[in-house]
Amino acid sequence: MLNKHLFLALFLGFLVQLPSYANTKTSNEQHVETVDARFAAWQRQFKRKALEQGIKSHIFAHAFEHITPDQSIIKADENQPEHVRPVWQYLESAISSWRVARGKALLAEHRRTLDAIEKEYQVDRHVLVAIWGLESSFGRHLGNKNIIRSLATLAFEGRRANFWEQQLIAALHIIQNGDVTLDKMRGSWAGAMGQTQFIPTTYLAHAVDFDGDGRRDIWDSPADALASAANYLQHSQWNPGQSWGFEVKLPTLFEYDSADGQQQKTLQQWLDLGVRIRKDRELTEQELAMSASIILPAGYRGPAFMQLDNFRSILKYNQATSYALAVGLLSDSLQGELFSLHRWPQDEVPLSRTERVELQELLNQLGLDAGKPDGIIGVNSRKAIREFQLNHDQPADGYPSNRLLDKVREIHQAQP
Ligand code: CA
Repeated sequence: MLNKHLFLALFLGFLVQLPSYANTKTSNEQHVETVDARFAAWQRQFKRKALEQGIKSHIFAHAFEHITPDQSIIKADENQPEHVRPVWQYLESAISSWRVARGKALLAEHRRTLDAIEKEYQVDRHVLVAIWGLESSFGRHLGNKNIIRSLATLAFEGRRANFWEQQLIAALHIIQNGDVTLDKMRGSWAGAMGQTQFIPTTYLAHAVDFDGDGRRDIWDSPADALASAANYLQHSQWNPGQSWGFEVKLPTLFEYDSADGQQQKTLQQWLDLGVRIRKDRELTEQELAMSASIILPAGYRGPAFMQLDNFRSILKYNQATSYALAVGLLSDSLQGELFSLHRWPQDEVPLSRTERVELQELLNQLGLDAGKPDGIIGVNSRKAIREFQLNHDQPADGYPSNRLLDKVREIHQAQP
């Protein structure tokens, strides 16, 4: 895709070189005018949809008063950083000693509320507090963007316009219901709100008033926020009394392509294959019958984790595996377990975006379908990597390491 900003810069550069006349506007003013006109036109057609879906005209007018597109949000939406942190560095900061200590203090402080929430929703309090800690540092960082402006900008200019329009209509319903005032409805640039960072549709479906003041206040009420997260997890098929998963040790001879996070076996079947649980714990018969899959977040050189059904419930909250793993490990840390970096391959540097695109292009040229070369290593890319690894006697972990890229380059060059 031709970068929109580059295109705009070229376009404006062209305008600047035109002969200038007295009383004509500068190119920048012309650009602003065009954006404003386009935004006004978008707003008119969007208003029709909002009214059709039950938003009252005066609520719409109130919400859109003084709303202009926020260019910083478009940039944030388009930005795919060149370099990413390795997953173990993300986990190290997610499970920081501050977050563990604060989480433990809050577990004690909110004990009675959490007793009541566990009773009502049967979701483990440590997982709820871990989510609270990761989403907003326990209510410290809620985001300060005007949600209507953020969502309007994304619906107007962003990718996935339909998704953002749906979120914006949900946000207008929240205002119309009176759960929160327009001024108070703030959050992240991508529309995540309050201590639980719910997007508006999630809020409408799952937020609850747990402290009984008649409003679902995930901004200022920890009880409402924690109970809303519990309600959401319960609706995401949370299994009461079960773990999210645990670290496992794989046997020396292991088919790494079965550790793709998708293939399900019962815990007993994995044990029969020689997989061992690192934690010293007795497994009940019910647990041995649970269905589980294995993930290798840093490839075969790093630690392996078994994910149970509750891990998949956390993924519904946020679909990044590293996030769900952070929630699980932080919830364990809140119960006294230590997170250690020593099993992670800290000598490895994650591929840059440019290198990931190159990897995808080379795999495609080798006839393995890595999907569109967009720098995002998703299911297709991992599958193509595994196929390559199996063809060349490498551990088939599907992990895009530097070593792997070197090997792919080598094979690609040797091609006739
Ligand atoms: Ca409330």
